[in-house]
Amino acid sequence: MCCGICVDACAHAAQRCAGFLLYGVLHYLPDYNGLCRDPMARVVLKGVSKVFDNGYEAVANASFTVEDGELAVLVGPSGCGKSTMLRMLAGLERVTAGEISIGERLVNEVTPKNRDIAMVFQNYALYPHMTVFDNMAFGLKLRKYPKKEIESRVEQAAEVLGIKGILSRKPKQLSGGQQQRVAVGRAIVRKPQVFLFDEPLSNLDAKLRMQMRTEITKLHRRLQATMIYVTHDQVEAMTMGDKIVVMNDGQVQQIDTPLNLYNSPANVFVAGFIGSPSMNLIAGTCSGQDDARFESSALSVALPRNKLPDHAMELDIFLGFRPEHLYIRESADAPPHAITLATLKITLVEPLGHETVIYGNVEGTTIIARSKIPVPPAPGDILHLLVDPSRLHYFDANSGAAIGR
Ligand code: ATP
Repeated sequence: MCCGICVDACAHAAQRCAGFLLYGVLHYLPDYNGLCRDPMARVVLKGVSKVFDNGYEAVANASFTVEDGELAVLVGPSGCGKSTMLRMLAGLERVTAGEISIGERLVNEVTPKNRDIAMVFQNYALYPHMTVFDNMAFGLKLRKYPKKEIESRVEQAAEVLGIKGILSRKPKQLSGGQQQRVAVGRAIVRKPQVFLFDEPLSNLDAKLRMQMRTEITKLHRRLQATMIYVTHDQVEAMTMGDKIVVMNDGQVQQIDTPLNLYNSPANVFVAGFIGSPSMNLIAGTCSGQDDARFESSALSVALPRNKLPDHAMELDIFLGFRPEHLYIRESADAPPHAITLATLKITLVEPLGHETVIYGNVEGTTIIARSKIPVPPAPGDILHLLVDPSRLHYFDANSGAAIGR
């Protein structure tokens, strides 16, 4: 009988790959041992790489651990290798180098169906001719679970997901959000060791995405299961993850909590990727000793020395500051220790009600600020900006690495 991923994986693969023999795969399903998940569901990746047949390295030397019961989010821009990483975890893609362990068991050579994981995909992959109940029960029926056990698990999952009232409907009679809940329900009923989510909310509109991501977070708390969630959306990552793995270009950039990513980005990429609007990153030089200054074509800023090691002096750097750490000189919200940053000419104003996003220009350099000023300024206005010096970030312009972190 089947342990989990194969049903989703086959449906997904059938969509991706014409001619995939679904029946053939479902026919050879392994035994499912026990009804509860293994209490140790730690996932460990050590030096994992993936080089495709055409020589392209999609994942390079990735190492990280997802603890038992943790919700880890893999986040990065399109093409950075996050789905490839998830597919390697699921066993749908072979690793070229490195080791993957699930629940203390090395799984490099273990087939997807024997990994005791359940995967939820972006495109739901529900069987259109089956009711919601049958879609959720399908994997358990294949494993010849007793009818009563199947009914009880499906009902429990439907209760948790708030879809009890639609169990007799077919997928085409459901909204996108309901279909996604069914796909999640199909994973839950299996009680797998690990849940893998591959951009499961991408097909939903913005409001529903927000609602569903809260529901998945609540579900995680309730199930206390190990979950790995892939998304390109940094807001989704920040709001859902206990731990976030930021990827770019096949490389893991930083593994950290949401707050640490925000407060102490390890490099220029993470600094620019986490936060919206993005951190301002201005190229220039750091010089001086006791009275250190940052100089660029647009800015000349007195820098506090406490965060700057000696070796940062005379270096080409990127000075980073988030839009929300800038203040209009005349506004009341500026902290007393704020220092002068720049005088800029406003080019664009985005009033959002609770705040205003201001785009300005200083000597050809664009600076973005967020302000709670009650009366938004207008394009063409001149603004004097202050910055909280404790919120400045410094990056080595050559390596991109954070300085003094
Ligand atoms: P997205 O968010 O767009 O889904 P991703 O971060 O999940 O992107 P992957 O799907 O993991 O990215 O792909 C990583 C890189 O590997 C991409 O450049 C992609 O073109 C490449 N790639 C994926 N599959 C193959 C393959 N079978 N052969 C060669 N290259 C591949």
